[in-house]
Amino acid sequence: MGTEETMDKHELTRDLICFSHLRWGFVYQRPQHLISRFARHLGSKGGRVFFWEEPAYGAETPRLHIEVCAASGVLVCTPQVPHGIEEDELNGVLCEMLDDLIGRERVNDFTAWYYTAMMLSFTHHLRPALTIYDCMDELTLFQGAPPALRERESHLFQRADLVFTGGHSLYEAKRAQHHSVYAFPSSVDIKHFEKGRNDLADPADQAAIPQPRIGWCGVIDERMNIELLAGTAEAHPEWHFVMIGPVVKINPATLPDAANIHYLGGKQYGELPAYIGNWDVAMMPFAHNESTRFISPTKTPEYLAAGRPVVSTSIRDVVRPYAENGLVHIGDTVAEFSAGIEEALGMNGSRTGWLMKVDDFLKDMSWDGTWSAMAKCMEEKLEEKRRLRAAAAVAEIVGSTAAGAPGLYTSRERERHAYDYLIVGAGFAGSVIAEQMARNFNKRVLLIDKRNHIGGNAYDFHNEHGVLIHRYGPHIFHTNSRDVYDYLSRFTGWRPYEHRVLANVDEKLVPIPINLDTVNKLYGLSLTSDELEGFFSSIAEKRDPVRTSEDVVVSRVGRELYEKMFRGYTRKQWGLDPSELDALVTARIPVRTNRDDRYFTDTFQAMPVNGYTRMFENMLDHPNIHTMVNADYREVRDMVPYREIVFTGPVDEFFNFRYGKLPYRSLQFKHETIDREWFQSAPVVNYPNEAVPYTRITEFKYLTGQQHAKTSIVYEYPKAEGDPYYPVPRPENAALYKRYQELADATPHVHFVGRLATYKYYNMDQIVAQALATVGKMVGARRAELIRPQGELKPALSA
Ligand code: FAD
Ligand code: UDP
Repeated sequence: MGTEETMDKHELTRDLICFSHLRWGFVYQRPQHLISRFARHLGSKGGRVFFWEEPAYGAETPRLHIEVCAASGVLVCTPQVPHGIEEDELNGVLCEMLDDLIGRERVNDFTAWYYTAMMLSFTHHLRPALTIYDCMDELTLFQGAPPALRERESHLFQRADLVFTGGHSLYEAKRAQHHSVYAFPSSVDIKHFEKGRNDLADPADQAAIPQPRIGWCGVIDERMNIELLAGTAEAHPEWHFVMIGPVVKINPATLPDAANIHYLGGKQYGELPAYIGNWDVAMMPFAHNESTRFISPTKTPEYLAAGRPVVSTSIRDVVRPYAENGLVHIGDTVAEFSAGIEEALGMNGSRTGWLMKVDDFLKDMSWDGTWSAMAKCMEEKLEEKRRLRAAAAVAEIVGSTAAGAPGLYTSRERERHAYDYLIVGAGFAGSVIAEQMARNFNKRVLLIDKRNHIGGNAYDFHNEHGVLIHRYGPHIFHTNSRDVYDYLSRFTGWRPYEHRVLANVDEKLVPIPINLDTVNKLYGLSLTSDELEGFFSSIAEKRDPVRTSEDVVVSRVGRELYEKMFRGYTRKQWGLDPSELDALVTARIPVRTNRDDRYFTDTFQAMPVNGYTRMFENMLDHPNIHTMVNADYREVRDMVPYREIVFTGPVDEFFNFRYGKLPYRSLQFKHETIDREWFQSAPVVNYPNEAVPYTRITEFKYLTGQQHAKTSIVYEYPKAEGDPYYPVPRPENAALYKRYQELADATPHVHFVGRLATYKYYNMDQIVAQALATVGKMVGARRAELIRPQGELKPALSA
């Protein structure tokens, strides 16, 4: 289950900033395909993608305009600046705008993705976790390319961790300049362009153009062989040439003007299949000049996906592989180009076989595939960098001159530099122990977490809209332990909060835990509390002993309510029937005969007033605690000297799954922000119906008390694979855990604490109590000594 995958799965950065010379709203091409996929992927994990465009001139005073692209979630950032602004001043202004954005939005773990090296002029001070140069074209050879571009590009080569090229020729040209260059030829949105094979209605402005039609779709600029177009049109007045796309950089007056050449202007990406699908032949009359030497035209596979025969000039990346595979006709002179078109027009009879060949060729060319392969490269590079960074950080922390070479310590040095504790995992378990050991017992602690943040599953942060959200689903603090509450109160003030949940059952929203209102609403009754007890007795099924999660509910409220409210939810959440799960799972949810609709009845119910992450920061703010994120135990354990370990990760993973994997249930979180003040009528709405794929929707502002014009929600989709979140309480798992526990008990100098390491379905307060108890055992102290503050503490913020 989750563990092995978690160990082997790497992550991209949280955010990404793309620096582009092409505008987001210009033609829909490589940047839009790739960057919108990043936006979807990172967005699902609470990350953001910023698309930084070239400045727009004409504003009175400089300002950054940010617009969310509704379809992808990309945040399009357009600097608006006054006309005539000098280059130096402009760079200063852009730099300030960018820093301001990064500070305001707390962008601190990000990838910088460049389409143009020119933007290094105001971005060279950034410290991205990863720098990518996605080299689409040989821009230095384009008309009007700034002289500084070549020099800037060489700087970008020095800074980039990875260089991707948009084609094979470009790869050949660039690969000697960088250690990690990968060719990622442009791909095709097959599903989109395939629509062109259906009989789509001819768009109004094309409908009147006679056939046969030879079409072009793309930017019309210096790459176009104007003479070839004019000559072919003149030689074949019976053919009609349809030109779709904006005219850029060249004077429109230089374009050939003929009765059979029709300029229809730029079109939306969504409209293209209808235009292309109504042509007879698609063409690429590219000139042979500096700007086309390395091009790898995306429209080749797009035309083919739309089922159109293609005629092109002999552009290298078109000849190989397309023409060599018999998919494209090639011709450079008017005569050759015309012959290609004639051949293409005469293809009718052999079309089916040709289309099969096309489809076979295109099947490995999806943008999804290209994007995934790029993301994989990036993950691997990040992992390599993280490892190096961890080594450097460790070397710096222990003050060694032999950076990253721990083997070089003498045993005496090791002893002198050694941490008292290496604590693995910066969630509640690890952080409480770090805090106690450092502040109460003056121990030196290295606290590491493989994630890029502290707080474990309780981590919260302000998303790109400024709404405070919990990355790993709703975390509500509740406890009956005054000790635990008092202890945490040293690091945070509280906002009183009593949690309430509604369940969506039979298209009604009813309180869960089941109470008097739940029953009356579901059955259209008006029972009193006393009557409800009788009602339950009449429908309850006797179970003796009460062993499973099914027994718990059915023996209290009968089968129907069990099926409506518990069976489906549990089957989704755990991938098991309640009859296969320990009683303790559903026993978490009480049944009430009064109208109390609170989810918890604990004495203390509150939320940290500035969020959990802030509370963790206060907890760990001590000179004896060194915290390292992005650091996996396996990388750090041999690099740093320490005396003992506290391990809060999955216990089976620690022992390399010696007895097999312990099942942990996982979740996928789908975060969304909606442009209205509220989304639903309760903090959490549960969906027990098995036909709905998620279990619940949480609306964070109810939990945090934040006021905001927008609202952020999260859907939880249960999964077997992925990060380990829930130990699965059932007898065989308990037996397997017991074997690991015996191993753990027999492992000297390692302490296992927390939900994953002790395989217990514990809430946050129980973990705090468990961690405090462990500290007590480790140092032989009594609980009161732990809770009483010893060292200097900053006063906690109050509500
Ligand atoms: P974690 O918070 O899981 O921390 C363990 C840390 O160890 C992780 O950050 C992990 O990255 C790190 N780690 C693991 N392996 C390694 C390694 N090899 N190297 C480095 N680091 C490693 N509790 C409540 O009280 N109220 C709630 O409302 C509530 N809601 C919840 C909702 C969800 C969806 C989930 C999943 C849990 C919820 N909980 C709730 C439970 C709560 O999250 C846990 O009790 C608590 O976070 C456990 O703390 P921990 O330190 O044991 O583990
Ligand atoms: N449960 C259910 N229906 C609900 C709420 C909970 O069947 O509407 C069951 C389900 O098995 C769930 C368990 O009760 O996993 C515990 O719920 P809780 O809200 O405590 O889960 P957690 O917050 O730990 O995910």
